[in-house]
Amino acid sequence: MKHEIDLLAQVPDGLFIGGQWRPADEGATLGVCDPATGGIVKQVADASRADGIAALDAADAASADWAATSLGRRADLLRGAFDLLQERAEEFALLLTIETGKPLEESRAEVAYSGDFLRWFSEEAPRIQGRYGQNATGTGRMIITQHPVGPCLLITPWNFPLGMATRKIAPALAAGCTVVIKPPELAPLSTLFFVSLLEELGLPSGVVNVVTTSSAGAVSKPLLRDPRLRKLSFTGSTPVGIRLLEQAARGVLRTSMELGGNAPFIVFDDADLDRAVEGALKAKFRNVGQACTAANRFIVHHSLADEFARRLAGHARAFTVGRGTDHGVEVGPLIDERAVTKVKHLVDDAVARGATLHAGGAPIEGPGTFFAPTVLSDLQAGSEILREEIFGPVLAVSTFDDEDQAVRMANDTNYGLVSYVYTENLARGQRMIERLETGMMGLNVGVVSNAGAPFGGWKSSGLGREGGAEGIHEYLQTKYTLSANPFA
Ligand code: NAD
Repeated sequence: MKHEIDLLAQVPDGLFIGGQWRPADEGATLGVCDPATGGIVKQVADASRADGIAALDAADAASADWAATSLGRRADLLRGAFDLLQERAEEFALLLTIETGKPLEESRAEVAYSGDFLRWFSEEAPRIQGRYGQNATGTGRMIITQHPVGPCLLITPWNFPLGMATRKIAPALAAGCTVVIKPPELAPLSTLFFVSLLEELGLPSGVVNVVTTSSAGAVSKPLLRDPRLRKLSFTGSTPVGIRLLEQAARGVLRTSMELGGNAPFIVFDDADLDRAVEGALKAKFRNVGQACTAANRFIVHHSLADEFARRLAGHARAFTVGRGTDHGVEVGPLIDERAVTKVKHLVDDAVARGATLHAGGAPIEGPGTFFAPTVLSDLQAGSEILREEIFGPVLAVSTFDDEDQAVRMANDTNYGLVSYVYTENLARGQRMIERLETGMMGLNVGVVSNAGAPFGGWKSSGLGREGGAEGIHEYLQTKYTLSANPFA
């Protein structure tokens, strides 16, 4: 416990604006809770509208100098941040467990994932290039150059708070953009701690500014109206994303939107069932199901469905549930009471409509906001759980008879982030790549994210891509110049 207290004391509690840590307007603070105990672990600054504007002032003031910084210097800063994050990985992992509740092993994986974006974009920065060529008539030379879009507002969610912060900060800085980041109010600590590392590395003032706030809408709205802001990158729920897109339309802002999911997980009759069960455990129970990429609808061939549900129910019952810091814990708490109420409602609705309950099914008594790992089968059409993003440890199995039906069921949603397919038939796997309406797909694998991949969704799951060769272009704008033929 003492090392937790010492670690929390090292995390800055202020806003970071123009290179200075400072309190919020009128000294306002917000409490950050450990969801495994329900206790407040730290108070951090609660920014006002004026604080948000001050952060944009700082990002704008630093913008021209940062855009002119050499690609090598940007790369070095990001590489330095990667190295420092590796050195301090255990501290970051513990902090993530305290603020989100996820088991330490999962927090370690998030720290590694977060670092990968720093390394990836440190390597991408020097590869920002343009083109040079003749126009078709030969009257001129075309010069195509890439430029930073300018000051960006980055808004991140609580489920992977550090991963989502580096997935945005790293490409923005690599591209030459300055940023205002608004971390999630439920889990802001890892972002604050990370920015203190950037400060240690000599980050120039105003390049990264952090505003923690309990009034996200009130702080972000004036920024989205301000002509100095040039981009919004948001990760969070689809309803909030839609509202922000409407606000961003006024200034014709560049936007990257990583929104909600409703991932299908299809198990064909030719699947390797052991592999499918192993993949399902990861795709469903990682972060207690609180992932945009979490498998939401298990669509299993009728010949395998009973065995699949039975085996997963065995695993669900055997999970060790508890505080993520405790040895051997595999499943932590949900983020808050609201999440428990929502998950309970979805399970109750499914059962009331005729679903079979194999394991779990109810919240676990506190302290903390725990829900028992749950397996349901025989889901009936119309069950809310088939439409809604569950965001909890509930695995719901429906059945299908043939490939066309599986595809119809999988695509029957407004979301399109990721799909998972288990089949040993290569041609069928390839058909699924062409037929499933999602931006990402796991073929015989239950986790797809990595820094080298273009992460993002189709349909209401988002716009733009984070990571991969595509990721940096979200923060760059193209200029085409026609120069007169130098020989004419
Ligand atoms: P959320 O939409 O409630 O909040 C996300 C962020 O937006 C938080 O920082 C919050 O403070 C802020 N916010 C909320 N209302 C706002 C407003 N009116 N104006 C400006 N900002 C506002 O989502 P959440 O509960 O934090 O995260 C869970 C959601 O995020 C899920 O839907 C999940 O699928 C999605 N998510 C998507 C991805 C992805 O990459 N596609 C990754 C992680 C999470």
